[in-house]
Amino acid sequence: MERTYIMVKPDGVQRGLVGEIIKRFEAKGFKLVALKLTAPGKAHLEKHYADLKEKKFFPGLIQYMTSGPVVAMVWAGKGVVKSGRVLLGETNPLASLPGTIRGDFAIDIGRNICHGSDSVESAEHEIALWFPEGVQAFDRAVDAWIYE
Ligand code: GDP
Ligand code: MG
Repeated sequence: MERTYIMVKPDGVQRGLVGEIIKRFEAKGFKLVALKLTAPGKAHLEKHYADLKEKKFFPGLIQYMTSGPVVAMVWAGKGVVKSGRVLLGETNPLASLPGTIRGDFAIDIGRNICHGSDSVESAEHEIALWFPEGVQAFDRAVDAWIYE
């Protein structure tokens, strides 16, 4: 089953939006297979955002991401990478439609409360980075009511 890495960023944790974000993925039918509150530090976040290291906003991004704990999660399900990005909304919250997480709860691009992997390949890379201990495999009886 496809998996994606979803993270509540420090501002989302501080603003008490962890439950709200989890709720939307749960309600959709996706399966939570890993979850932790963690504050891993600069080197780890620089690895996570390695593809952005030439950007002007990179130092500010790393400062933001290390300003408090994050909630790291792995969600599984059919099409979860793309669908997860739809649930999150656009990178710029002001361009995100109401009904999306960023559209409903954020304003600035540099305080957009959540992260979601942008491809199946980067999802697997991010899952390995954030959950080297591995994730939980389990069957859900309810899947027969979610998948045809
Ligand atoms: P995402 O995949 O939608 O999170 O967007 P990107 O991978 O392009 O960027 C990663 C994160 O960097 C975004 O979620 C923002 O928090 C931040 N970011 C991206 N573009 C900008 C920008 O132009 N300015 C600032 N301040 N932050 C940015
Ligand atoms: Mg990205």
